[in-house]
Amino acid sequence: MSYQKIRKMDISNGPGVRVSVFFQGCAFHCEGCFNPTTWDFDGGNPFGQEQIEEVLELCKGDHISGLSILGGEPLHPRNIQDSTLLAKMFKEKYPEKTLWIWSGYTFEEYIYDKEILEYTDVIIDGRFEIGLRNPKLKWKGSSNQRVIDVQKTLEKNEVVLYEEEELCAKEVLKLQEDGKIETSTYPFVKQNILQDTM
Ligand code: SF4
Repeated sequence: MSYQKIRKMDISNGPGVRVSVFFQGCAFHCEGCFNPTTWDFDGGNPFGQEQIEEVLELCKGDHISGLSILGGEPLHPRNIQDSTLLAKMFKEKYPEKTLWIWSGYTFEEYIYDKEILEYTDVIIDGRFEIGLRNPKLKWKGSSNQRVIDVQKTLEKNEVVLYEEEELCAKEVLKLQEDGKIETSTYPFVKQNILQDTM
């Protein structure tokens, strides 16, 4: 399996400051794809234990909220073994940090029974549909895609969408308990806390 790049600090893909891994290879070839250089399964750089250790080390800092896995298609049969191993090792090492994944598959057609779900907080699912493109959407490019709360989905056995407000509220509590408001990687949460405490 290959990867295209690793971003050490990413503020575009998921909440807070994150480490992002872009896997190489995607068979969907959506019109208007944001990253067509990832389509070729034979491109990119080899991904293995060394890269997993590098990613885990990058995730260590308190300022890192979590790991984001994108592509290409990280859940393609040629990629899913390594993306699952990365997800598993990340969650074992950092259970308090979040794992977000972007996939062109929909939850119902392919993702629903994959082991990687055990380690995942949020999945953005579905192909990019250029006719449904909306630049105002958060975390996704077209309105057919969904931002799914994976753990609630597994619990209820039906797709549950991610409610940002709820996770923000948890983060506020965590920050207040830890007394680490100044180091918050959620500027909007920090603003709310400061407003509430002023
Ligand atoms: S699934 Fe994602 S990476 Fe693959 S072609 Fe579509 S937009 Fe691009």
